[in-house]
Amino acid sequence: MTIGVLKEGGEEKRVVLLPEHISFFSKKNIKVLVEKGAGEASFSGDNIYVEGGAELADRSVVLKQADLILGINAPAETLEKGKVFIGILSPLGDKAPVEKLASEGLVVYSLDMIPRSSRAQAVDVLSSQATVAGYKAVLVAASKLPGFFPMFMSASGTIKPSKVLILGAGVAGLQALATARKLGAIVEVFDVRAAVKEEVKSLGGKFVEVEGAKDEASAGGYAVEQSEEYKHKQAELIQEHARQADVVITTAQIPGRKAPVLIQKDTVAHMKPGSVIIDLAASTGGNCELTVDAEEISHGGVSIIGNSAFASSVPADASKMLGKNYTNFIEMMLDENGEMNLDVEDEIVQLTCLCRDGVIVNERLK
Ligand code: NAD
Repeated sequence: MTIGVLKEGGEEKRVVLLPEHISFFSKKNIKVLVEKGAGEASFSGDNIYVEGGAELADRSVVLKQADLILGINAPAETLEKGKVFIGILSPLGDKAPVEKLASEGLVVYSLDMIPRSSRAQAVDVLSSQATVAGYKAVLVAASKLPGFFPMFMSASGTIKPSKVLILGAGVAGLQALATARKLGAIVEVFDVRAAVKEEVKSLGGKFVEVEGAKDEASAGGYAVEQSEEYKHKQAELIQEHARQADVVITTAQIPGRKAPVLIQKDTVAHMKPGSVIIDLAASTGGNCELTVDAEEISHGGVSIIGNSAFASSVPADASKMLGKNYTNFIEMMLDENGEMNLDVEDEIVQLTCLCRDGVIVNERLK
């Protein structure tokens, strides 16, 4: 079998396999063809891939010769029927690219569709990349803020620690909490899922609670849409806390839906000039009413940074984590001869498959 690793286009700096991941495949007699320059933006040059056991090739050769093609985004080119592609396609947000791939007869797996079970953690690209995003969001906020994060007591006076408010205590929010605490800020965290209260407390954060949240077991641990009454109470409480905050980091998402608006324009108007909002949910509409995706704007002296692509701004380690996730996923599908077994009876593999034999097979997507 031959695996192809693609160079991503546009602003994307990550690559899905680094040189250190190649030996896993070489040991199984699997050839890895890497598109020239694929790892450059992650600081892994072509020569390091060759030293790691990979072969380099032009994109057209990779697409033609590889049986299994790996990338983050799907290639724009039309691929030969029956080839397998593994990517991270956010299909619940936009189904059209998957329909195209299905019509071309590709077998496609999207690693952001994995179930959030303990066993799936090793292939959980949502978690690995959210960890990076939560960490980077705090660093960006700290460098943007006109003040310090930690408390300072010196002969030049005492400086109070910054207050950080985090909305959404999923993987990104909890990592943001841990990072902000390490930098010495006081951190408050809000989530509709009361289950995260203990985790927030154990990381040194204060949990802000609104009574009466809908928390459905059927949602598999994910948040669900809340009632109008709850949203109203929540908006009031968030405004109260945002007014005191120097930094607000928002991470709230509902899979397959527009992100909930948690910071109204009116709340921003009440925030301190110089304060910073980092909106990690920008690509799905944003948690702040004023967020513009992939842009930084200023409103009444408050900076609002809409960025859902922070993982790409830490490309070396984000790619290292992705490489491990992809390798673990492929391992689940390999038979004893190092060939892909598309019929493997593994829930993680099956739930991640989007299309096969020309049709969409994924129940969530259907
Ligand atoms: P996510 O990116 O889907 O959402 C981020 C957070 O925003 C969540 O905590 C969610 O509850 C919260 N949120 C949604 N709507 C909100 C609202 N209106 N107000 C405030 N907060 C709101 O989250 P995620 O990091 O992908 O995690 C989703 C679930 O998966 C969690 O239960 C998490 O513990 C679980 N998880 C499990 C595993 C595993 O076992 N493999 C790995 C990672 C995450």
